[in-house]
Amino acid sequence: MATTPTVIGSTMTNLRCTYCGAEYDADTLQTLCPKDGRVLAPQYDLKRAAETMTKEALAQRPATMWRYTEIMPARDPAHVVTLGEGWTPLLTMDGLGPQTGLSRLWAKDESRNPTGSFKDRGLGSAITRARELGVTAVAIPSAGNAASAMSAFAARAGMDAFVFMPQDTPDAMKAESAAYGAHVFLVNGLINDCGAIIKQQSGPRGWFDVSTLKEPYRAEGKKTLGLELVEQLGWRIPDVIIYPTGGGTGIVGMWKAFAELEAMGLIGSARPKMVVVQSEGCAPIVRAFENGERHAALWENARTLAPGMRVPIAVGDYLILDAVRESDGTCVTVADSAMVEWMPKIAAATGIWPSPEAASTVVAARQLRERGWLKADDEVVCFFTAGGIKHLDLATVPTGPILTPGDPNIGAIIDATLAGEQ
Ligand SMILES: *Cc1c(COP(=O)(O)O)cnc(C)c1O
Repeated sequence: MATTPTVIGSTMTNLRCTYCGAEYDADTLQTLCPKDGRVLAPQYDLKRAAETMTKEALAQRPATMWRYTEIMPARDPAHVVTLGEGWTPLLTMDGLGPQTGLSRLWAKDESRNPTGSFKDRGLGSAITRARELGVTAVAIPSAGNAASAMSAFAARAGMDAFVFMPQDTPDAMKAESAAYGAHVFLVNGLINDCGAIIKQQSGPRGWFDVSTLKEPYRAEGKKTLGLELVEQLGWRIPDVIIYPTGGGTGIVGMWKAFAELEAMGLIGSARPKMVVVQSEGCAPIVRAFENGERHAALWENARTLAPGMRVPIAVGDYLILDAVRESDGTCVTVADSAMVEWMPKIAAATGIWPSPEAASTVVAARQLRERGWLKADDEVVCFFTAGGIKHLDLATVPTGPILTPGDPNIGAIIDATLAGEQ
């Protein structure tokens, strides 16, 4: 008979500013560091966490991101607001071998999360913690998927949700947010303009702002991307991680995950090279990397059809750039046209239909292999942050021919159609 593993709950001790190191109480509601306006990160008693979060204990835990309870921020596991997010499959992409020149290419398929993107991890964590600290109304500026995720978790938590998104966000995300009962506002601008409206309105209205990295807990959910990846690889570190980057929470979260796993003795000091991918039309992090800067200036007239990467300025810029540099990684840009071209190619070669952001990672892998930056046998993990289904506007939707039952020409029509596909 399997024994029930001991789960001790969170070992969170306090919050620490990632810039000036000032420390704060984790059990009062916090946003950015009051001293310097930078990002606060939860700290844990990793020694105590390591006593119960062992490889053997983990093997028996539930297949959700909350399996890492010791180094997650929920004080009481009973408070967790969950829809089963996390523990998404890590899938081989052998079918892309000929087109990428890479023999060990993986996809971490985040489209399997409750609202179809990895945003569920961050917002599951942020909403759980906000509710635990007494918040009843939340607001988010979002380029798309974060709004869907926040709306779903707020609905489950019984909170009021206020969503501000660019007016040209894909319909799927607008509709999802509305279906979950959020109040949806469309903005003539980008995600940073949405953020400015929330900043102005949230105080008097009593909304808690769950913008990326402006509260300490979204990144903790994203951290589980790194924890899961290592566990799923049998406690091995891949050579390279390729990540479609907007606000960068995924990179920041994974980098923290690796440090915590090392401190707990679960991995060594080796790290994957972290690769940032951005669109040619919105590449503030790539530009800062190339210019040797630690902060990324606002990208003017940001334009890309990949909503998750339409982030012209990032609060956590220094954290993203530090991770890329410390890991000996790099930053690349990809054209929107290449993302759209590769979405169906990847789907047909692997059985995984990626969103444009996800497709950009494969395009980047090809580029890096061509340049010789990647070796043919490097173990490379592409983060497929979302799936293609929310982007029907970018897909080819068959419109004909329409077959009429009983028509004697059906066979000839099928032959002609198949011949036309060649
Ligand atoms: C938000 C988003 C991204 C960017 O994620 P960050 O961690 O904020 O950089 C990438 N892909 C998709 C599909 C997204 O929704």
